[in-house]
Amino acid sequence: MKSWVEVSERRLTENYRLLTGAAGDTAVLAVVKANAYGHGAAVCAPVLVRAGAEWLGVTEVTEGATVRAALETAGIARREQPGVLVMSGLLREDAEEVVRLGLVPVVWLREQMEWLAEAAGRLGMGPVAVHVEIDTGMARQGIRPGVELEDLLAWVRGEPGIRLDGVMTHFASSEVAGSLQTTLQRERFEEAIGAVGAAGLRLSWVHAGNSSTVDNQRGEGNLGWLRELAASVGARSMVRTGIALYGYCLPIEGEGLSEVRRELQPVMTWKTRVIGRREVEAGETVGYNGIFVAEHAMRLALLPVGYADGLRRELSASNAQAGGWAMVRGQRAPIVGRVSMNLTIVDVSGIAGVGLGDEVVVLGDGVTAEDHARLAGTIAYEIVCGVRAAHRCGIAG
Ligand SMILES: *Cc1c(COP(=O)(O)O)cnc(C)c1O
Repeated sequence: MKSWVEVSERRLTENYRLLTGAAGDTAVLAVVKANAYGHGAAVCAPVLVRAGAEWLGVTEVTEGATVRAALETAGIARREQPGVLVMSGLLREDAEEVVRLGLVPVVWLREQMEWLAEAAGRLGMGPVAVHVEIDTGMARQGIRPGVELEDLLAWVRGEPGIRLDGVMTHFASSEVAGSLQTTLQRERFEEAIGAVGAAGLRLSWVHAGNSSTVDNQRGEGNLGWLRELAASVGARSMVRTGIALYGYCLPIEGEGLSEVRRELQPVMTWKTRVIGRREVEAGETVGYNGIFVAEHAMRLALLPVGYADGLRRELSASNAQAGGWAMVRGQRAPIVGRVSMNLTIVDVSGIAGVGLGDEVVVLGDGVTAEDHARLAGTIAYEIVCGVRAAHRCGIAG
């Protein structure tokens, strides 16, 4: 096995509990899109459901199918399974599968609901539950508050094939304390929820925000506001968390309380094994373009991972510029030379007894996704989502 990801069931469960504790009465949807941010949706979804998740979130219908199947395999029967929210891009050809799998799609267009109602009719099923997204300022997906929304709500009220189960929005700057953009988005969402109430529609869920929304609390913060807004239409409030489940969260910009972020524990350990060893003399070059020249005799270890596996090329190291590192026997082994497509070389001169086949931690305790992100000029999200390990082992402690 070239490289693999181990998922800590304990840490995933503890992160989920930390978030539900911080969210109080507000429910916490567990986002498992993008293959659970690279952690393996089939591994993580059953753990999150056992931890108490009432809702899981995916991007597309095929992911919803994967999650339903994984839960079934884990011994969680369909009627005990949580709601599965499909958060992006419902197309006509998806409608039947959504209905058959009992997924709940996020919609914002009348056509999308027509496809769903038609599919349910064909399959002889009852009304399809949907969540309508409000575009409060992302300009990505969702309907804008105002006449358009009022027309849509009036149509929904007259359509027996559709049941409006929830209304949601997404914040653009939830990690920014006291963000004016969030304030504006809140006002637009209030207007939209007001329109739902005025249309006489009954809702179960009103939801907004992400991991940073839970982390970024000042006093009652966004969650207190959300709870009251949901209560105004007799619904429950919910927040949708992804990255924090897996142990990471953006730092809050400005004066926020970041208590959640401090207590999160990274869930992924990405491991590989030593496939070669080499001693080089002073003056020998290492890897592509010889950007690294040994300044003294060195012992190197060869790892069978590279940028094709999601190990970022920005972690390469020249003599002038240090790069990333792996953890070998609990110690840092600096990367030397260029990270290549499927191979990376690390310096184990200071680590005694490194042998062929030894396990190495590419990402995990001692070398976090935030370390990789800093070096690669990106965020931890992109690092964990980018890990493509061929095998996902069972669940480590
Ligand atoms: C991905 C996603 C989330 C989760 O965001 P995190 O920052 O990972 O917590 C929440 N809501 C929507 C609509 C999303 O697409």
